[in-house]
Amino acid sequence: MMYAGVLHGPGKIEYQEVDYPEISGNEVIVGVKYAGICGSDIQRVMVKGAYHHPLVPGHEFSGVIEDAGDSKFHTGQKVTVYPLIPCKKCHSCDSGSYHLCDNYNYLGSRCDGGFAEFVKCPSENIIPLPENISLENAAFTEPASVSFHGVSKAGIKEGDTVVVYGLGTIGMLVAQWARLMGAGLIIGVDRNSYKHLTAKSLGVDYCISSDENSAEIIKDLTGNRGADCAFECAGSASTQEKCVIVSKKGGRIVMLGNSESDFRVRKENVPQILRKELSIYGSWNSTIKDDWTKSIDAMKNGKIRCADIITHRKNLSEIKQVFEDLHQKSYPYIKVIFVI
Ligand SMILES: [Zn+2]
Ligand SMILES: [Zn+2]
Repeated sequence: MMYAGVLHGPGKIEYQEVDYPEISGNEVIVGVKYAGICGSDIQRVMVKGAYHHPLVPGHEFSGVIEDAGDSKFHTGQKVTVYPLIPCKKCHSCDSGSYHLCDNYNYLGSRCDGGFAEFVKCPSENIIPLPENISLENAAFTEPASVSFHGVSKAGIKEGDTVVVYGLGTIGMLVAQWARLMGAGLIIGVDRNSYKHLTAKSLGVDYCISSDENSAEIIKDLTGNRGADCAFECAGSASTQEKCVIVSKKGGRIVMLGNSESDFRVRKENVPQILRKELSIYGSWNSTIKDDWTKSIDAMKNGKIRCADIITHRKNLSEIKQVFEDLHQKSYPYIKVIFVI
């Protein structure tokens, strides 16, 4: 037996004993050490529920190989895990775009994930870690890769002005990748001003809270031109529309935020998309080959800083209370991570 956080339905998560996973074929067992809580987990656990119940959530984690099975890995090896298991049969998989698979399985949303002492994973999804990366940092490989995937779409050129709407984990990582790719001025916008200090320590030059008029301030800061690239990492209708308003002519917008509302640009602002010839990109997930390799490399070299984003380290036994608090916004937080 082992302990896990088990979701039984929306709002019903319990820390309880469950069967130790059994492996077969190409599977291995990872002993989880760190597992981050993603914004999507809060929705899944507290509001929407998972694809089926009971389910162990958690898709951002790191740990050590506990049982290597028939794989090439060895017990005790430090690893992180790519959570998406592609079908390898659909059109996207045929063309190598596994992250766009029509019929994927997913650790932590469709099959048991990392909010547990142990998790069963296909060996193909195991990413061995270099010695000089901490397991705590490695638990950020998923969000770091999702962010890299999005920033890569924007085609940032040296000196570009970048705006990031939403300074959660993804926004903080997007800002850092943008800097690495050559961005000049980086402006962050978030209604929670307690996030501004962290954002600035990670290289954001100027922070705006949402009770200020970000469009006016960005106009001033860019000499009326607007931003070269805007990243939507908040997932709200108002920030989506703001991205259209603050972009310069020929500007690029990348949408990364999971939205809980309609995508809406008011009719008086629709002409801006046309007149400014804006490009709007969607970004989904990350690729195990390119994005994950890049992320681990950048984290290893200290070029992407993750530990600074962590505001709370929690014990897995507290999972029920943690999710209730995050859902109720009982305290200010950026990244909450379970130490297992
Ligand atoms: Zn996530
Ligand atoms: Zn597929």
